[in-house]
Amino acid sequence: MSSAFPLLRSASPVPEAERAAVLAAPGFGRHFTDHMASALWTPQAGWHNRQVTAVRPFSLHPASSVLHYAQEVFEGLKAYRHADGSIWLFRPERNAQRFIRSAGRMGLPPLPEDDFLASIEALVRADEAWVPVATTQESLYLRPFMFASEPFLGVRPAEQVTYAVIASPAQSYFASARGGVTLWVSTAYTRAGQGGTGAAKCGGNYGAGVAAQVEAERHGCDQVLYLDGLDEEAFVEEAGTMNLFLVTSRGELVTPALGTILDGVTRDTVLALATEFDLTPVERPVPFRELCVGIADGTVTEVFAAGTAAVITPVLGIKSTRRTLTVADGEPGKQTQALRDRVLGIQYGRSEDTHGWLRHV
Ligand code: PMP
Repeated sequence: MSSAFPLLRSASPVPEAERAAVLAAPGFGRHFTDHMASALWTPQAGWHNRQVTAVRPFSLHPASSVLHYAQEVFEGLKAYRHADGSIWLFRPERNAQRFIRSAGRMGLPPLPEDDFLASIEALVRADEAWVPVATTQESLYLRPFMFASEPFLGVRPAEQVTYAVIASPAQSYFASARGGVTLWVSTAYTRAGQGGTGAAKCGGNYGAGVAAQVEAERHGCDQVLYLDGLDEEAFVEEAGTMNLFLVTSRGELVTPALGTILDGVTRDTVLALATEFDLTPVERPVPFRELCVGIADGTVTEVFAAGTAAVITPVLGIKSTRRTLTVADGEPGKQTQALRDRVLGIQYGRSEDTHGWLRHV
């Protein structure tokens, strides 16, 4: 079956001057391009109605399952414009594969990898003018998502599912003046448990994280550091919507093992690049206590968080009800910056793509 997404061009695109004003200061997640890609699924027809159309509201029956039981999964990736004007995606196959795994966890049908890639490429081509010329870290953020659109109040796999991709020009996610973030250790909320949905990129995980984020901000922190339990004997999981990394004085780059956390594309990228910086990549459970002791005695020399939106963000400090820790001298670490420059260098075509991660659109 064809995975082409034919384009029905918008009759009322955003005027050029307005688009230029948005691209000059896009922020994050506020402005949307002229088009969207979409497709429908039913058990009888499989995936069908593939198209790229003007971006428009959905019309949903109030009984649509997603509104009641949250069968929804999504992805996040970016299109980057290189200095020669060409446009590239970074490891989109990994997002496609994770989308299939997330859908499986939520009882949603798998979207074939070819459809995922074709929908994204068709949308980026249609909205090519919306991919910013990068001065610092601008990009076109792509948001594929899928939800149970069947009007039915029973709890079971939906028999009508909608898939769509929207796009939003973006600048650096954490435009923090301090060059990094502080993390609040939540002992009121966890993000995931064994057998739960922590490894899936499903909307409910993020809705459930809002209260923890509010708590972090109330304590003067930027993001939540999630543990896998509610006391300090627990293990470290993730930093908000990013994976966490520690650099040790032994030359290790340590990150929590997969299981209840999201298998981040940036996480995998950073692990693969570690040896270029004489760091040994280590994936293992990380006790919170070990992190605290390591920061206090200097054996943890750098901490950073990694994800598509923020790329690599230095963690400058960690705060909980019982302690306030400053990582090293409270400035972004050297290895953190070197890894960040390397990842951004590959994404923007300034540094050699030795792993073949870029995909031309
Ligand atoms: N953890 C969570 C919970 C996330 O939402 C994200 C962002 N998708 C990440 C980690 C980082 O994943 P990636 O590098 O694929 O963006």
